[in-house]
Amino acid sequence: MSQLAIKGGKPLRDVKANPWPKWPYWDDNDKKALIKVLESGVWSYNGPVEQQFNQAYAEFTGTKYALSVANGTVSIQLALEALGIGLGDEVIVPGLTWQATAATVLDVNAVPILVDVDEETWCIDPVAVERAITSRTKAIIPVHLYGCFADMDAILDLAQKHNLKVIEDCAHKQGAQWKDKKAGSIGIAGSFSFQLSKLMTAGEGGALTTSDDALYEKLDALRNCGRRPEQQIDADKGAGIYTDEGNFIQSGNYRITDFQAAILLEALKRLPQHNQTREKNAVYFNSLLADIPGVLPMRRDERETMEAYYNFSIRYKKDAFKGLSVEVFRQALEKEIGTPVESSYEPLNSCALYTPHTKPWRYKITEQHWRDLDPRRFDLPVCRKVFQEESVCFHHTVLMGTKKDMDLLAEAIQKIYNNVDELL
Ligand SMILES: *Cc1c(COP(=O)(O)O)cnc(C)c1O
Repeated sequence: MSQLAIKGGKPLRDVKANPWPKWPYWDDNDKKALIKVLESGVWSYNGPVEQQFNQAYAEFTGTKYALSVANGTVSIQLALEALGIGLGDEVIVPGLTWQATAATVLDVNAVPILVDVDEETWCIDPVAVERAITSRTKAIIPVHLYGCFADMDAILDLAQKHNLKVIEDCAHKQGAQWKDKKAGSIGIAGSFSFQLSKLMTAGEGGALTTSDDALYEKLDALRNCGRRPEQQIDADKGAGIYTDEGNFIQSGNYRITDFQAAILLEALKRLPQHNQTREKNAVYFNSLLADIPGVLPMRRDERETMEAYYNFSIRYKKDAFKGLSVEVFRQALEKEIGTPVESSYEPLNSCALYTPHTKPWRYKITEQHWRDLDPRRFDLPVCRKVFQEESVCFHHTVLMGTKKDMDLLAEAIQKIYNNVDELL
């Protein structure tokens, strides 16, 4: 008789009787906060709750400013725009990330340069960054992916040496710390996402952090149609508009609502506790992996003084599982534990959601520029190996329960190991 759930055996976890922690998390405080905004009638436009959130988020991140924006995609786009990056410029991004990290570079009409990642952290490889730097390079966007940090010391060194801007993509990293500095306070700007699956969420939403006065002012205008919020009345009459060296700037509307800000303020209050729970469980689970062949924890750099886990990932080595493919391993594991087990992002040099060439009607650009944008020109062997052979990712909610949940995860992997013959 089969043991493994995927073969008709009994799953290790009965999720009906014993569900995983729910996400999104909310309680009565969120309800009260939402109703308060509703009844106030001030639903948007730099309202009091949004201002309160921006201030709280800046304090939390250890930056002078935080600015809420519509999502964690436009946040990157606005940072690039505010830094004056555009036509003719190159921006270095990791090949293993959500497509927004590179797509926003296209959106400001610059050229994304995809580089490979570190095999043990899946974050941008500083050696690959250095190799990719040219006279046209203007910025680097490290992504602190899943449960790891990009090597910010090495990246800042390169940035300083070559006069490059560093925008941290912190969509996965609310509250994590590198040498006691929070993610988003290390580069010139930090970009955050509050989309539904992230560590703090208002359904949608994003934020930018910076300690640079001039950059903050420009970002504030860029997210608000080129105006300064406190001057919006005058601005409608054509006065008091933000100017950049004497010029008006054209932009769009990337604001959030006070409903979102209210939910985010509540989420921010809970985040440190949630992060601590996840950190404790992750460290414990990783310690259990030492006893199971063929699964490795991600490398934890000692300079990461606090981690945050948007997805929780581990590395799979099929040789220890008699050659069982990682896809089948993930499916079998998912059936045992009753919650999704996924691959990493698809490398951006062959990702269906990152296709610069599908908009030929949008720009009139040279043949050379067209070739420059082609993601297939980048060689990303580590990204490919991670995606195709090694990645096993869980949503962060698996880390929000108990130590027993971690024992069960480890037991599920051991069960597949013990019964791997059923799958071959
Ligand atoms: C989620 C995410 C984004 C984009 O954020 P949205 O709020 O979904 O637009 C950007 N970068 C990374 C790494 C992400 O995971």
